[in-house]
Amino acid sequence: DLLRILDKVLEEKTLSQKEALFLLNLEDEKERELLYKTANFLRRKYLGNSCCVHGIIEFSNFCSRNCSYCGISIHNRKLKRYRMSDEEIIQTAIQAIDQYGFQALVLQSGEDPCFPAKRLAELIKELKRQRPVLIFVSCGEVGERGLEILYQAGARGILMRFETSNPVLYEKLHPGYSLEERIQHLKIAYQIGYLIITGALIGLPGQSDEDLLNDIFLTSELRAEMCSFGPFLPHPETPLGHSRPPNKTRVLNALALIRILAPKHSKILVTTAFETLDPLARENGLMAGANSLMLNVTPAHFRKQYVIYPHRAHEKESLEDQIKQTLQLLYKLGRAPTDLGTEITNGENKA
Ligand code: SAM
Repeated sequence: DLLRILDKVLEEKTLSQKEALFLLNLEDEKERELLYKTANFLRRKYLGNSCCVHGIIEFSNFCSRNCSYCGISIHNRKLKRYRMSDEEIIQTAIQAIDQYGFQALVLQSGEDPCFPAKRLAELIKELKRQRPVLIFVSCGEVGERGLEILYQAGARGILMRFETSNPVLYEKLHPGYSLEERIQHLKIAYQIGYLIITGALIGLPGQSDEDLLNDIFLTSELRAEMCSFGPFLPHPETPLGHSRPPNKTRVLNALALIRILAPKHSKILVTTAFETLDPLARENGLMAGANSLMLNVTPAHFRKQYVIYPHRAHEKESLEDQIKQTLQLLYKLGRAPTDLGTEITNGENKA
């Protein structure tokens, strides 16, 4: 049955839900190898050997939200909170651009009331005045007006996961918040012109196989330039602190399935969470359909306080070491690093 389904994949025929679920649940090592090779073939066919590498600056770990899994949510009263100053953020970005050659940067934080859209907009304007960089904002739900203000200031992308496409599970994990609003936010961002990076958590307690499949379909529907799917990892100071993370096979199968089901040219990220779950995740993920990485360019003393889950991979590595390791791996795999920015000529999405 596996060979028949993979043939269908290679002939680019639509899979039934049953067939997709069959692939998601493959366990046998040899069968999984075939799945990953097929996903890798498609990655190469449609996206070539480039691997998109961009940087992320985590500028504040203050957050007003109550996500049941997240270590920087209001649940965690033990976390030492920090905010980088505007000057520190701009200097960090300029260093990443000038010294290390990044052309696309994600500015990420919790939902921090001290960084309203207007302040962020001034910061982005100043940064764009100094350097021609592609900026993605990842600060949660800033609202339609906030999205417009940030776009006018020069932000051209948004990184925001919808976390789960199951509305009941969403509301259970985010009491008082609605999935519909989060999805609406992503749709409005797309209409404004933002490039979209979105996706979901793999292995959330209560997530069914069908939910994960729907997460993949929703990511396509939202016209994601890049799919960001990573494992849920328990943080002890959160309500889900005692839940189990998914196993590595589940995550790899999901990445391969995203490559098979998502639009041909979507980029797929290997997340730091996956690398935290398994030290070979990066290599294995890149050989199972993924083609993007995000390096953490946050200054080391702040980085260790951005504890969304414990023992994050690369937490203590210098940026030089991160870049060295990344290049070594990419060259070993025959991939060339590119930057999201270099592939997008004018920073507009291709609506
Ligand atoms: N506030 C922004 C937002 O809501 O999109 C960005 C910051 S938020 C910490 C970034 C991402 O971290 C979330 O989209 C979530 O999927 C991920 N995350 C949070 N807690 C996690 C955990 N315990 N395991 C894995 N990923 C987690």
